[in-house]
Amino acid sequence: MMASLLKEMARTTGCRCVTLSLILPVYNEAAVLPLLMRSLRPVLDRLNADYEVVFVDDGSQDGTSSILRELAERDRRVKVIAFPRNFGHQAAISAGLDFAAGDAVIIMEADLQDPPDLLPRMLELFQEGYDVVSPQRRSRRGDSFFKRMTAGLSYWLMRHMVDKRLPEEVGDFRLLSRRAVSAIRQFREQHRFMRGMVAWLGLKEAILPFERQPRAAGETKYPLRKMLRFSWTAISSFSAFPLRICTFVGMCASCAGLLYVLYALYAALLRKTVVPGWTSLVFLQCLFFGVTLLSLGLVGDYIARIYEESKNRPLYVVSQAANLDTGAYSIARAVILPEHTPKQPILALRSEAQRAVDDTLASGSRLGMNIKRANTG
Ligand code: UDP
Ligand code: MG
Repeated sequence: MMASLLKEMARTTGCRCVTLSLILPVYNEAAVLPLLMRSLRPVLDRLNADYEVVFVDDGSQDGTSSILRELAERDRRVKVIAFPRNFGHQAAISAGLDFAAGDAVIIMEADLQDPPDLLPRMLELFQEGYDVVSPQRRSRRGDSFFKRMTAGLSYWLMRHMVDKRLPEEVGDFRLLSRRAVSAIRQFREQHRFMRGMVAWLGLKEAILPFERQPRAAGETKYPLRKMLRFSWTAISSFSAFPLRICTFVGMCASCAGLLYVLYALYAALLRKTVVPGWTSLVFLQCLFFGVTLLSLGLVGDYIARIYEESKNRPLYVVSQAANLDTGAYSIARAVILPEHTPKQPILALRSEAQRAVDDTLASGSRLGMNIKRANTG
């Protein structure tokens, strides 16, 4: 109701009241970028909002960078931030949030799995007062059985170990209000899990079901190895639950060991039968050794993360940009390099200096002055 009223007002006054920033992290997406722009442009132009599209090139090595440069040259609303190497999807989203200027910010995948047709409805919900609009996948058409299984498992783990408020089947495709973006920008930790941060804030959220499309072109940039690492980052950066599991398993194993000691004492002292016991000894040895090593590994991983966090390293490096004055930004835990302007070769400089001296001598002699030639060599 409110949204349609606003829309009507905007139409009559010709005012584009809202500014929208679209953040698109891209890593080797040359195959899909032309398709993306073709589907995105008509939707964006129909929106009742001024917009910018912020591409974050996460160290692509295919033709992505040159396509983005061309898009930025043709349209000033297309802005590009480029990393010199791959810093990962979550770092790319963070950089997008750092540079986006809109009242509303939408994070999307570049492969058209997140349908652009959903943008107008998301913006309407934002205008109705929601800080977070989360499209929820109703189906995963096009994803393989294996991908659906592993994704299902990782959502289950995240909901149970990270935060119960994490909505099921909601990815990084999201709309965030300006104040939600400002809040998220204050999370500067190295191991990042954006969905956990949004859930942690607990702002007013609207869920919008949608059909997830198959990837339009190219292949997934999240192979199993990356997905497992991402799930572990999600769990360990928001919860100490695995450490508590260690304590629990350790306690159970110790109780079992104590019972066995009691049985061994009973067998040795009362029944006077010395059990050969080799099998059980080996069994217990293995069990306790395994539990101890597993616990040590988990504790070690948390310590490694504390160590990495304590180094306070930047989250990403921006080495190139288009249609953005990156020099005007000062962002915590980010390196923004100035433009690389190669110096003129020293030889060229010298010949220029030589030419200047020659000109001075020539004009001096024209005026009848007696100037000695200086040695400029
Ligand atoms: N992506 C990125 N850096 C990476 C991996 C992925 O910027 O290291 C981008 C990728 O280009 C895409 C989005 O993140 O726009 C999601 O990746 P993808 O579609 O491959 O993941 P999937 O949908 O298969 O889980
Ligand atoms: Mg995808």
